Amino acid sequence: LDKAYSFMLRSRAPGGRLTAAQYLVHDRLADEVGNGTLRLTTRQGIQLHGILKGDVKETIRALHREMVNTLAACGDVNRNVMACPAPERSRQHALLEEVAREIDAHLLPRSEAYYQLWLDGERQPLPAEATPSAAFVAPTDAVEPIYGRTYLPRKFKIGIAFPHDNCVDVFTQDIGIVPVMDGEALRGFNLLIGGGMGMSHTDADTHPVLGKELGFVTREQLLRTVEGIVTVQRDFGNREERKFARMKYLVEARGVAWFRGELERRLGFALGDWVPVGPFAVDDHLGWREQGDGRFYLGIPIENGRIKDAGPMRLRTALRELLTRYPNEVRITPQHNLLVTNLSAQDREPIEALLREHGVRTVGEITQARRYAMACPALPTCGLAVAESERMLPGVIGALERELEALGLGGEEIAIRMTGCPNGCARPYTAELAFVGRSLDKYNIYVGGAFEGTRLVSEYAQMVAGGDLAATVAPLLRLWRDQRDPGERFGDFCHRVGVERLREAAQGVVAA
Ligand code: SF4
Repeated sequence: LDKAYSFMLRSRAPGGRLTAAQYLVHDRLADEVGNGTLRLTTRQGIQLHGILKGDVKETIRALHREMVNTLAACGDVNRNVMACPAPERSRQHALLEEVAREIDAHLLPRSEAYYQLWLDGERQPLPAEATPSAAFVAPTDAVEPIYGRTYLPRKFKIGIAFPHDNCVDVFTQDIGIVPVMDGEALRGFNLLIGGGMGMSHTDADTHPVLGKELGFVTREQLLRTVEGIVTVQRDFGNREERKFARMKYLVEARGVAWFRGELERRLGFALGDWVPVGPFAVDDHLGWREQGDGRFYLGIPIENGRIKDAGPMRLRTALRELLTRYPNEVRITPQHNLLVTNLSAQDREPIEALLREHGVRTVGEITQARRYAMACPALPTCGLAVAESERMLPGVIGALERELEALGLGGEEIAIRMTGCPNGCARPYTAELAFVGRSLDKYNIYVGGAFEGTRLVSEYAQMVAGGDLAATVAPLLRLWRDQRDPGERFGDFCHRVGVERLREAAQGVVAA
């Protein structure tokens, strides 16, 4: 007997867009071959867990029939391109979607091996999008003109965000793309490079980094410039030590000026300078919103991205029925929530009744702490996890909710994130409050990131037991209430005071 190997399957969905049929095939497969649940990811994809080895090929085939694939959803290539998922019918949002799809298609691996592997020799046409620029063709391999024979040193992440809506956490990406507008007209794009979350608890040379300002390009220059950045990382990224293989370490080692010079040499034109843009903000797009074409979309909070039926809350059944009745496009948000689009005003009442019937909580029925919380899957489905995350965070949030309520802070927005290891898939290092797995049931606590995703956290405490997390943070919440400037967010307060003084002051609170 062979071992019963079980797999996680992750679908690619640039900008988080799927048709209802594409969502529903995942839902069906979750029962047929998975563990009965779906997991929306923090990069706007879907994961199915618990697929046995013998079912993998048929699962991929079933997805492919609905025009979904898993190509480049993992591996040392460009991953799912993130973009704001709001289906607002403005020229600005259409632009984001267009750019996300264009970059995603352009950076897909060209090899036909993926299709041959899964489709029993039925040769499938390759995606018909633009061919890569000849300037960067690797001389060693015509099949992969961008990636060459050895692909990239490590995974590669790209996100696009307007400053007024940084829901994709644009500073955490290898390439962050920020459109610069003159009113409704596009002026071009600011580019950030070298952001990244992962680190190791035991190696101080590894660390999360925010993307750095590289420069400005026009719409016509964008795709070629993105490709050029990828090839600089391909050719100069660290292939000796995998823990330093992300582009953030290349940018740190050589500097932005060197990177820009090397890139411009390849491109044959100079980048413009970074254009100052307005303050960054975040919108999670939950609740009922106008699309701008007379229709509405509904953002449904999905706690930790897990879609399942559990006790009185039959979320998975509710979404299946909703999308069967209203077979409209859905969008996965970077906060692992779901948007159902193209609804009419008349749809509101029956949809709210359907959600109520199934015990699904809408955004008005959850606290601000729960609304903005994010967790990675971790145990038992992630092989890299050293601690719980998805199964742990709801209880920690519950305890924090009680603290916040008792302090009169129940209505405050606060971004709380948890991961089961330091790789940081739920982007904890830009949160206001983060718990990162250190070992089994032990977490490091971080504070002081910005709600808007523009600042990194600082380490506040180490090796705190899961059951003590809320109690350890409670004195900080009290200090925040008593000592904050008017309207000051929790992350901004912790950053202003600093972790040293916070530790001292928290001891005073506990003693008092
Ligand atoms: Fe990512 Fe680590 Fe969480 Fe696994 S445990 S999902 S690698 S952050």
